[in-house]
Amino acid sequence: MLHDVIIVGGSYSGMAAALQLARARKDVAVVDAGQRRNRFAEASHGFLGQDGQPPGAIAAQARAQLLSYPTVTWVEGKAVAATAEEGQFRVTLETGEERTARRLLLATGVVDNLPDVPGLQERWGRGVYQCPYCDGYELNQGHLGVLATSGFWFHQAMLIPEWGRTTLFTNGIARPDAEQRAALARRGVTIEEAAVTGIAGERVTVQLEDGRSIALAGLFLVPRTSFASPLASQLGCTLEEGPMGPFIWTDIRKETSVPGVFACGDAARAAGSVSLAVGDGAIAGTGIHQSLIFR
Ligand SMILES: Cc1cc2nc3c(=O)[nH]c(=O)nc-3n(C[C@H](O)[C@H](O)[C@H](O)COP(=O)(O)OP(=O)(O)OC[C@H]3O[C@@H](n4cnc5c(N)ncnc54)[C@H](O)[C@@H]3O)c2cc1C
Repeated sequence: MLHDVIIVGGSYSGMAAALQLARARKDVAVVDAGQRRNRFAEASHGFLGQDGQPPGAIAAQARAQLLSYPTVTWVEGKAVAATAEEGQFRVTLETGEERTARRLLLATGVVDNLPDVPGLQERWGRGVYQCPYCDGYELNQGHLGVLATSGFWFHQAMLIPEWGRTTLFTNGIARPDAEQRAALARRGVTIEEAAVTGIAGERVTVQLEDGRSIALAGLFLVPRTSFASPLASQLGCTLEEGPMGPFIWTDIRKETSVPGVFACGDAARAAGSVSLAVGDGAIAGTGIHQSLIFR
């Protein structure tokens, strides 16, 4: 059976696109592997009307509303291949199941590649964070840390003092020059140059190689991201390099360089959030719908 649209990725951006298409009575198949980027967090912040709600609850409510439209099919599973064939798109799932459609939307998100510091992975989203707008307020202006992981450390170390007194852990990665040290001092940032050997505790404690421990209300870092799925590369979509990792190039209607293939959410922007993913998805949904009429 030929769907109007296959959406790979059924989280915030994919569902927002599906909703617009469902409301135009298009036949949409949403293929989803259920690995939302924020699944580690207890609460999602900053998304209007849902501030502080569990991320899974927001997604579950959206999915229930979406599935009340009869033209939407939900397919649980992982898409492993996508090909373009004579103006149609074929998506193959891990199970071998195949689906075809007139348009394809990649809403597959990104994966955070965390530094290999003992105790860090299990505290991701629960004491260790990436986005102060998402999680800074709840730390109640306590003592915060920035763990240098990438070229973005200076930006983050300058920003985080908005949410509390800040220590920058250079961890052999950040090498602040005199100008940067002066700027950080003006922001009240303490620089800690001993290597970080582990993260412990419930509200995180940073353990240092010289045996000291520093208790924090929260630790921030900017991870490198990579695509959660190779489908954009398989299809030959043009990619761009952002400050945190690659993303899929799109035009203003969220169409990629491959005609008929659209992309939205974290996979198709330099940095994302739930609000931006939902906005992107809404643009992609209407863009896809109108592309079915006007070409
Ligand atoms: C710890 C943490 C906390 C965060 N907290 C907040 C917050 O408080 N507020 C906020 O606004 N933002 C927050 N974010 C950012 C937010 O999670 C993302 O911006 C948002 O999830 C992006 O939505 P998306 O739909 O683009 O991708 P995602 O939510 O990552 O969803 C992508 C979906 O595609 C599926 N998928 C991928 N590949 C395939 C495939 N091949 N086949 C089938 N399915 C596939 C995945 O399984 C997943 O379900 C947080 C991020 C992290 C890491």
